[in-house]
Amino acid sequence: IGGLVEGWTGLQSGLAAVRRIDEVESLPGEPADLFGELKEGGGPLRVTFQDVTFGYGDERAPAHKGVTFEVPAGGMVALVGPSGAGKSTVFSLLERFYDHDGGTITLDGRDIRDWPLGELRASLAYVEQDAPVLAGTLRENLLFAAPDAPEDRLTDAVARTRLDTLVARLPEGLDTAVGHRGVTLSGGERQRIAIARALLRRPRLLLLDEVTSQLDAVNEQALRDVILELAEQSTVLVIAHRLSTVRHADRIVVLEEGRVRTAGTHEELIASDDLYRELAATQLAAEVR
Ligand code: ATP
Repeated sequence: IGGLVEGWTGLQSGLAAVRRIDEVESLPGEPADLFGELKEGGGPLRVTFQDVTFGYGDERAPAHKGVTFEVPAGGMVALVGPSGAGKSTVFSLLERFYDHDGGTITLDGRDIRDWPLGELRASLAYVEQDAPVLAGTLRENLLFAAPDAPEDRLTDAVARTRLDTLVARLPEGLDTAVGHRGVTLSGGERQRIAIARALLRRPRLLLLDEVTSQLDAVNEQALRDVILELAEQSTVLVIAHRLSTVRHADRIVVLEEGRVRTAGTHEELIASDDLYRELAATQLAAEVR
C-alpha cells in the first residue's frame, strides 16, 4: 500500500510538471530561433547607437534619452558614468531583452530589429559580474554555449582563465557538479567561467561588465590578458570599473542621466571633463589589489 501511495504521489507531481511544461511552451514569447546556430567567424561587429530613446515602462524618467555612439568593428569602447546613467541598459538593448522606443541601433549597418534573434544572441557574449552557473558539471557549464568545442580548446580556456587551480581542487575535476546542487563557486570563479565561455565561443561582440571586486592580483592580470586577446578577435563594449581598462579602450563614452555627456580617450577626458575626473578618482580608482 505504501508503494502504491508513493507511486500515485509521484505520478501526480509528474503530471503537474507536464502541465507546467505545456503552459510554458504555449506562452507567447520569443521566437523559436532563440538559441540559433552558433556560427563561427563572421568577424567583429560594428555597433551604432543613433539617438536611442528607451524607457522601462514605469513612471521613472526614461533610461535613455537620445544616446548616440559608435563602436568600430574590432574596437574597444568603455562605458562609464554614475549609477543609473544607463550603462547596463545599453547591454540590455543590444541583447534585445528590450526593444528601444526611438532612434536606431545597428550591428554591421543592419537594424538590430532585422537580425534573427538567435543569430544576434549567438554573435554576442555577455560576461557579467554575477555570471550565472547552471546546475550541472563544470564541464557542462563551460560548454553549454559551444558544445562542439574540442577538448584542447576547453583545456586551453580553462588554463587561460586560471580555472585550472579550481579544477585541481574539485573532487572530480571538470566533471564535478557545481551550482545549486554542487560545489558553490565564488563570484570571481563565476566570472572566470563566463570569460572561459566567451573564449570558447569567439563572439563577434563581447559585452563585458567588469567586476568591482572579488579578484586577486594574479587572477586580475590573467583575466586582463584574456580580455585583451578576445579584443583582438571581437568588438568589445565594456562597462568599466578600472583605470587600467579605460586606458586600454580606444574610446570612452561618458553617460549621464540617459545621455552621452562626452567621449574621448582617458587623457582627453581627464583634461576636459569634470565628471570624468571625478569618476576616475572614485569609481575607476578602485583597483583590486
Ligand atoms: P549602475 O552603474 O548602477 O549599474 P547603470 O548606469 O548601468 O547603473 P542602468 O542600469 O542602465 O544604469 O539604469 C538606468 C535607469 O533605468 C535607472 O534609472 C534604473 O533605475 C532604470 N532601470 C534599470 N533596469 C531597470 C529595470 N529592469 N526596470 C525598471 N527600471 C530599470
